[in-house]
This record gives sequence, structure tokens and C-alpha cells, in this order.
Amino acid sequence: EAFVKALPKAELHAHLSGSVSMKTLHGMWSRKRASGRCLKLLDPLQAMLSIAESVDIISFFPLFDQYIYQLLDDIESVQEATRSVIRDFATDGVKYLELRTTPREHAQTGMTKASYVHAVHEVIQTHNNSYDVVCEQSHDIKVYLILSIDRKMTLEQANEVLDLAMTLRTGCVVGIDLSGNPARGDVETFTPVFRRAKTEGLHITVHFAEVLASATQRELEVILSWEPDRLGHVICTSEDVERTIKERRTGLELCLSCNVLAKMTEGSIADHHFRKWRMTSCPIALSTDDVGIFQSPLSNEYLLAAQHFELGPQDLVALSKSAASIAFGDSQSLRASLKTFETYFQAQG
Ligand code: 5GP
Repeated sequence: EAFVKALPKAELHAHLSGSVSMKTLHGMWSRKRASGRCLKLLDPLQAMLSIAESVDIISFFPLFDQYIYQLLDDIESVQEATRSVIRDFATDGVKYLELRTTPREHAQTGMTKASYVHAVHEVIQTHNNSYDVVCEQSHDIKVYLILSIDRKMTLEQANEVLDLAMTLRTGCVVGIDLSGNPARGDVETFTPVFRRAKTEGLHITVHFAEVLASATQRELEVILSWEPDRLGHVICTSEDVERTIKERRTGLELCLSCNVLAKMTEGSIADHHFRKWRMTSCPIALSTDDVGIFQSPLSNEYLLAAQHFELGPQDLVALSKSAASIAFGDSQSLRASLKTFETYFQAQG
């Protein structure tokens, strides 16, 4: 356990709003209630636990609109959430973090999509420029931002997300993502947006083949035609699609606990498709997805991988290196930390 926590790690697939801890949400809830807001919302300390126990891929998505977004409804809360998420990952030994988030607005508080994105961006930039503001000096962690397009968006809304990403690319924005309920939308809608992103040199990652119903050959081919740099989840694939992914050596963001707890995969962790993809030359980034909901920090995902796929310490170091190799931002300091860690570890015998 100490080994996986000390291992310098890269987290490449973390949704900001899904990564906020129960404790942080509880603090926000208490303050909002004291000022007469959120009176109908359950205490996150109870609500999030029961959610984690009973969640599946159907009940998962409404949870954001109906619960988490009610608390993250203004700039102050969004910035507090961002700070706490960075701190939590840093405490878990993550040295390189790509957070992703969907631009969101809230009429009552005056939060717009642009002010939302700028608020998150400002926290990250402040952190990156003087990391001791958010974390302890020893918790150095480099943070980047990916903007998510939700599958239920229109073409115009998706273009707005890309425009926002373009404005902040000189800051910490490194790419765009497609996420949201896989049962919604037609991915073809977004082809012009992802093509434009590619032409502009932004990185692309896409939630891919999450559930059987929407993972049609057509949908998967459309997404692959965007030439994504990385794919998330990659569960319900066909042989054809797998061949293309292997030929391209596309980076894969695989999430063990999330997939098993949300019943996106059959069986237990030992049956996870991590086993299959590990045998290919596709680089893998073990990821948490929504640690606030699934309650399994990245160090625990590494531990689970060690326990269920017979990985030794060297394999875990290699796995972390593999994640670093497909980072969209500058992962040099993570690589340096990994080298130091490896040397220290080898010296210990
Ligand atoms: P946010 O973008 O608000 O920071 O993070 C929460 C959002 O990320 C959710 O509303 C949902 O659109 C997306 N999301 C979180 N986890 C998953 C997942 O496992 N699959 C997909 N497709 N989308 C997700």
C-alpha cells in the first residue's frame, strides 16, 4: 500500500465534478444551508455513500444534474472544488494530473460557461505557478485541463467548448474530450468540431465503447475517423475496431473500479479488459474517472491491478511510465520523479 502511494503517478482521466470528495461537498452543503440554500439536498456524507453502493451506468448520469451540480452551482464552489481535487490527487502521490470538465452555466448565480472555465483555469494556473498555494511544497503536482463536450450538446454548443479551449490553450488547456451519457446523441454531430480541434493541434480524447447499446460499429468508426490521441474505457469493441486501435497504438485510459462498480463490465476486477489490453502495445493509463463517487483513489487502482493481474513493483513503475508516455502536457517532472523513485527502490533491493 505504501509503495503504490509513494509511486509517482499520472492521472489522465478524471472528471472534475465527479472527483470532489464527500468531505468537500459536505463542507459546501453545510455553508449553503446556513445561508438558506440547498435545503432540500441530502447531506453528501450520506448521499454519496448510498450512491456509491447502488450506482449503475443508468443511474449514474442524472446524479450530476440532480445532486452534485446543485452544490457546484457558483464560481466560488467550483474554485473550491478544483482546489480540493488537486490537493486530494497530490496527497495520493499523483505528480501529473489532467482534469477534464464540461463548461456549465447556472442562471441564478450568474455563472456562465466562459466564467466557469476561466474559474477552473485560474485555480490551475495559480497552482502551477506557485504550487504551495494549493498544496504543501512536497505535494508538487503539475495540472492540465481538458474541456469536455457532452454528447447531448448541439453542434453550436460543442463549437463553443472548442472555442473556449482555443482561447486558453496558451494556459493549461491541452485538449478536448467527448463524454456524457452514451445513450444520448449522435457522435456524427461532432465530427466538424473534432476535425477542427485536430487541425488546430489540440489533443483529442474520447469516451469510447462504454455500453453495448451505443457502441455500434458505425459510432466507433466515426470516432476513430477523428484520429483521437487517446480513448477512454474501450469496453464493447469489435475485432475490427481493436485491430485499428492496436495498429495505431492509441493510448488507453482504463478505469477498473469505476467500470466494475457501475456494472459497465461483467464480473470482477480480475475479468476487466485491462488484462487483454495489457498484452498489446497500446500504452495504458490506469485512471479513476470519478473518485468522489467510486471512492477508489489512483493508488488503490494500482494496488488492485497488482492484486488481480499479478503485477510486481517493476510492472507498476512501468505502468506509471506508460501513462506518462501518453500525457498531453509536459510530463517531464513526473518522469524525473519516476526515475528517482526507481533508483531508490532498486537500491533498497
Ligand atoms: P464535469 O464535466 O461536470 O466536471 O464532470 C462530470 C461529467 O462528466 C458528467 O456530467 C458526465 O457528463 C461526465 N462523466 C463522468 N463520468 C463519466 C463516465 O464514466 N462516462 C461518461 N461518458 N461521462 C462521464
